[in-house]
Amino acid sequence: MGLSFIVLGSGSSGNATLVSDGETHILVDVGLSGRETAKRLRECGIEPERISAIVVSHEHGDHCRGVGPFAKDLEIPVFMTDATLSGSGMILDSRKHQRIQSGESFDVYGFLFTGFSVPHDSADPLGFVIEKDEIKLGIALDLGYLSNLVLERLKGCDGIILESNHDVRMLKVGPYPWALKQRVLSRRGHLSNDSVAQFLGNDFDGQAAHIVLAHLSQKNNLPELALLSAQRALEERSGLQIGGTKLELAYQDKISRAYRY
Ligand SMILES: [Zn+2]
Ligand SMILES: [Zn+2]
Repeated sequence: MGLSFIVLGSGSSGNATLVSDGETHILVDVGLSGRETAKRLRECGIEPERISAIVVSHEHGDHCRGVGPFAKDLEIPVFMTDATLSGSGMILDSRKHQRIQSGESFDVYGFLFTGFSVPHDSADPLGFVIEKDEIKLGIALDLGYLSNLVLERLKGCDGIILESNHDVRMLKVGPYPWALKQRVLSRRGHLSNDSVAQFLGNDFDGQAAHIVLAHLSQKNNLPELALLSAQRALEERSGLQIGGTKLELAYQDKISRAYRY
């Protein structure tokens, strides 16, 4: 059965990832509208009613906007921390809320999730490692830098979805107001192409078959730039067998391909 994932959409207008073993389908974040999420699930050949659970990383709208609307008519558990729930202002049936905590593992219908803290300006932001049938997927979106904890968690992953939010130069000369530029650039903001390159050049263990660059800014980045910068970093890497890793992109306005393990 293994594990597969499809990034339904990623960027500041909404993030959602489908994780599946072919029978059980789980959404990690529903930052697209409920309707758009349903539409994209159908594009993946999955009726929205077949979703078994939702896991939420943090309360920013681009990660949880669609959770309430999507879960409204479904009797499914929604896993998130208390701080994320209260920060979101979401009204969620208490029977649906499954409380999780940073650093702890939890079972979602046979998928072993472990939430880990990421440096980001929200109440209790999490990245996730998801394990099933010896396959390990890492998701780290919305983080200002790659802390030692994040680097540790991303080791040994077969697939990684990693933020590559902005090109620092484009951000600096771009249209954002100064305060927002500072926020994005801060250690609790968003990950730059340079940070990803540094990760690939120094810390990446070469295990993952795929690294999907995600949460690209539409104003302060270009897909080609993110990909090129990451590719260069991998190519310049010496002393480690990393030829097996493919770099790919997630998109805001369309679903990614399916990654199967
Ligand atoms: Zn965020
Ligand atoms: Zn975000």
